[in-house]
Amino acid sequence: MSPRAIYLPVVNYDSKEEFKYWTNNCPIFYNNLLVSPFTTGWDKNRRHFDGKTLKIYADSGGYQVVTMDKRVASLDVLRWQQRIAHIAFTLDIPPHHFSKNYNKDQFLKCMYQSNKNADLMWEFNKDYDMQLWGVIQGKTYDELKMWYEDLTKGHEYDGYCIALSIHKSDADLPWIEQLRFVSTIPKCFHFLGWSEPLFVVVLAKLAQKMNLRYTYDSSTPTIGARYGQYIEPSSLSPVPFNKYKSKLPCMCPTCSRHSVEEMMDTTQLLNLHNLYMKISFCRLANLAASDDDLFKYLLDEIIVMRPNYKKSRDVVESCVMRLLYGEDCQESATSSYGEGEAIEQLQIKTTESEGLTDFDKEYLQQFIMKFMNKKCNNWYILQSVRRFHDQ
Ligand SMILES: [Zn+2]
Repeated sequence: MSPRAIYLPVVNYDSKEEFKYWTNNCPIFYNNLLVSPFTTGWDKNRRHFDGKTLKIYADSGGYQVVTMDKRVASLDVLRWQQRIAHIAFTLDIPPHHFSKNYNKDQFLKCMYQSNKNADLMWEFNKDYDMQLWGVIQGKTYDELKMWYEDLTKGHEYDGYCIALSIHKSDADLPWIEQLRFVSTIPKCFHFLGWSEPLFVVVLAKLAQKMNLRYTYDSSTPTIGARYGQYIEPSSLSPVPFNKYKSKLPCMCPTCSRHSVEEMMDTTQLLNLHNLYMKISFCRLANLAASDDDLFKYLLDEIIVMRPNYKKSRDVVESCVMRLLYGEDCQESATSSYGEGEAIEQLQIKTTESEGLTDFDKEYLQQFIMKFMNKKCNNWYILQSVRRFHDQ
């Protein structure tokens, strides 16, 4: 299994049959999923997911337990996870539910209660083939280390899970310190609740460096779609869908089959497009991560696209370089590739990548052109592939 970052969409099972992207009835098929008791449903189990290649990760709903004041016992969560998932996360109590600036007592209280839950779940999962991953909370390296040491004082877990620390509008990157902690533990990790491009590019590179698989999730495609937001392929920013009158800037399996009017009327179609954008970008980040200069090229593209990163470029670059190449590194963040060479290398890697359908490869090549060269407005190859498939 090659090291990589893997995006996990959060499954809302109540979608109509043709929009269930984990079945062959849907134009998009995707086999890595995150289920959650409150979003996917307590009554769902493995039989509701018939694809043989599916890998199902189960959240514990810890966040909803505290934010929505839900009462739930850790063993009830575990039993549900055992019925539905291949990999499950322990039930934690996030300290930030007190406030963003929780104090030490609040942090410790959450840590002890969460790790007590985790211990109990570990004890009752010993004879099952489901993997149990321990959830770790903490904003700083020291907090994470303290929580991890308390969590693993009796036994280790199959993997771990971290709630990402993010400041949406600032250029400082609190999650870099969390990744610095992660890089000290040679185990698989899942990152809860964020899929911002800069994070994804860095995570894919760290996965390569550590020779591990890292997963991350977000509900952005679904929540965005609910508010009429469409992820624009060349910027990856959500834009109001109603700005499009006739032609869409995308030839994904959804946009190429449906008119603007149809997509306007159906939230689920927007969701499928948004999901395909998240998946395509994750594929691009993994391709770039296999070559230092491609990684640096893509990193620069992302920094330039986001004003808050662009204005603090030196800080952002130095944080990322130190995480990936060592605290004392003198590694430059400048790629030796020009635009043409970077695109060409990525196109070659796309052709060689395994596990993608011909359509996925063709789409990815066009997506790369759109994303790396904003002037490109060419989807002609895809149109011919689509015609071929439809015959
Ligand atoms: Zn699309």
